[in-house]
Amino acid sequence: MGLLTEGSFLSWDQAEKYANHIRKHGITQFLNVWDRQKGRRDPFLWGDEIEYMVISYDHEGKNARLALRQSEILDAFHQLVQDTCANKAMALPNFVPETSAYMIESTPGTPLTGSLNDLLSVENCMRHRRSLLRRLLKSDEALVSLTSFPRLGAGGVFTEPHYEPSTTEPHHSLFIPREVVGPHVRHRAINENITLRRGSKPPINIPVFFDANTPQPFFDPTIPPDLSPIDAESILPDHIYLDSSEGGFGCCCLQVTFQAANVDEAKRVYDALIPVGPIMLALTAASPAYKGHLADVDCRWNVIGDSADDRTQEERSEKSQQIPKSRYAGNYSYISSDFNNRNEHNDSSMPYDEAVYEQLINHGIEEPLATHIARLYIRDPLLVIPETINQDDANSIDHFETIQSTNWQAVRFKIPPPNSPIGWRVEFRTMEVQLTDFENAAFAVFLILLSRAIVKYGVNFYIPISLVDENMERAQKRSAVTEEKFWFRKDVFSASTPPPSQTHTPTHSPSAKKPSLDAPAENTAAVALNAVSPPWSQDSLSSNVSQTQYVEMTVGEIINGKGEVFPGLLGLVNAYVNSMDVDQGEKQKLGKYLDLIKRRGNGSLCTTATWIRNFIRAHPAYANDSVVTEEINYDLITALEQIENATRRANDLLPEEYPEWVSDEASTNPIQSA
Ligand code: ADP
Ligand code: MG
Ligand code: MG
Ligand code: MG
Ligand code: MG
Repeated sequence: MGLLTEGSFLSWDQAEKYANHIRKHGITQFLNVWDRQKGRRDPFLWGDEIEYMVISYDHEGKNARLALRQSEILDAFHQLVQDTCANKAMALPNFVPETSAYMIESTPGTPLTGSLNDLLSVENCMRHRRSLLRRLLKSDEALVSLTSFPRLGAGGVFTEPHYEPSTTEPHHSLFIPREVVGPHVRHRAINENITLRRGSKPPINIPVFFDANTPQPFFDPTIPPDLSPIDAESILPDHIYLDSSEGGFGCCCLQVTFQAANVDEAKRVYDALIPVGPIMLALTAASPAYKGHLADVDCRWNVIGDSADDRTQEERSEKSQQIPKSRYAGNYSYISSDFNNRNEHNDSSMPYDEAVYEQLINHGIEEPLATHIARLYIRDPLLVIPETINQDDANSIDHFETIQSTNWQAVRFKIPPPNSPIGWRVEFRTMEVQLTDFENAAFAVFLILLSRAIVKYGVNFYIPISLVDENMERAQKRSAVTEEKFWFRKDVFSASTPPPSQTHTPTHSPSAKKPSLDAPAENTAAVALNAVSPPWSQDSLSSNVSQTQYVEMTVGEIINGKGEVFPGLLGLVNAYVNSMDVDQGEKQKLGKYLDLIKRRGNGSLCTTATWIRNFIRAHPAYANDSVVTEEINYDLITALEQIENATRRANDLLPEEYPEWVSDEASTNPIQSA
């Protein structure tokens, strides 16, 4: 990573000249991978990504600031590795720079396997990563896995060191100083070229939360007078206004990636996870405050969507709607060639690159996947590195990835890199990061088990993409878990009967000794229903598929089930767990995680966003005017740190036993106590 930090990239006017070259070779690279790797089979492997913010406290001034120390900390880490751990490289986690100079991302050193043991050890792996990073901090610094920093861009002092944002450069933010952009070439290029391609800074308007004393109408008080016309016309009343891609890309998240047995399984699970995306976003909501104000949303998603919006005026204009979505947005279409993926589900109006589509179809790529790739390829490259323009298309996928990795969709279909042991993978990207590794492990484990249950039971989660988009909007609203309803498929076993040629013969799992998540698919709904006990009634299979297959349910119902027919995502996961050979101790540990999901779903535990919002509103210095002052923010960040290390109880957010679990882990885990 360090190598790229100093590298140069092409500014948009130069980069644009290579757009067609990169797209053309990107598709050639994809087809080379397809030809060589479409038949590959791989074991189930998976891993998480956790992003953190580095905080610098000014205890005297009661201020918590973002420490712009990414490079120093990562350099120190690499030095530490060289000095002390040279022979243990395999066990070491990965740390990489994220977009902003206060952000660091960590992943396991090697992907985790499908063993139950690995599933249950991910929390320790996460804690290990956190504690390694913490060793590199200064005494007045902290590491928090927090989704949005409540005072980024709020004026006053919110970074360490402090910089004034420039008010004289028309292309730069009025609120967030340039120094906040991380030094990595990728992040500098994306930040700069979004603005240059768009032709103006990306405006971010976040609805403000109206409290008793919030002025109505609300005009963001941090906006300076004498705005340029383009700034002035971007600002919406009753909104918190930011004007830089750092406003959104500076948010942290939790992602999970897994490797599928083969490309068809990857496509099937990718599709099934698309409708799950908004549900998990609502459930993990953790970002209710931006730029010194409480927002009327609980999530980062649209904030990043606006941040990444490099569409030109023409492309995004309401009239032409040439490109209806930002490049950071929900998925445009499903990709599986299974019978259940019907035309009616793919009702997005996103355009696609016709030449790319033709080329893929002529090469034998099936229509749903060809459409997906051709839609990614309407975008221009944002990162063009002069030294890597000419590539060996048989041995590189860099150009493919240039387009793919700047199409930030809710679920990502990842292709095998050439000459590597890595296979077809699916990345789940909607979750907001949680404060504690207990929660992050719980959500990762839940998602992994759900993906295995999807494969095993061959469930049908398809609903129209337009309804997924609608769900994505609802998921971000304040208190969405308890206040909103979401479209979901009512009968997840109601496979439309496939024509005979597409009927799969159920395979039977060999009786494995060690519980593992590798069990092959049982591909018919009938098998699924036989594998579980009532109350999921057999009637649901035989009854005629109802006219209204898509229904609105609360998150609680979607997670925990509704009535006789709908088992809930947790019901599927529990059935899957019951089908494994799990001992009592393992069941207990899994139970802690699944219970958190259940309780967040039914509202008996609140979301992180609700906890943060309640803390701010109950703070003695809060004037009921939506403003999150430096002092409130200082106390909040301190409290969040204390929740994580279990020196402060938060029984409305976490199970009562959480502090005991933390001390148990610390005493039994040598890494923790080291
Ligand atoms: P990106 O930022 O592009 O999503 P990262 O490298 O940061 O990618 O994260 C990839 C995630 O995938 C990590 O959690 C890693 O452990 C996991 N991973 C790596 N290799 C595999 C694999 N072969 N199968 C499944 N997961 C993998
Ligand atoms: Mg990553
Ligand atoms: Mg990341
Ligand atoms: Mg990344
Ligand atoms: Mg990722």
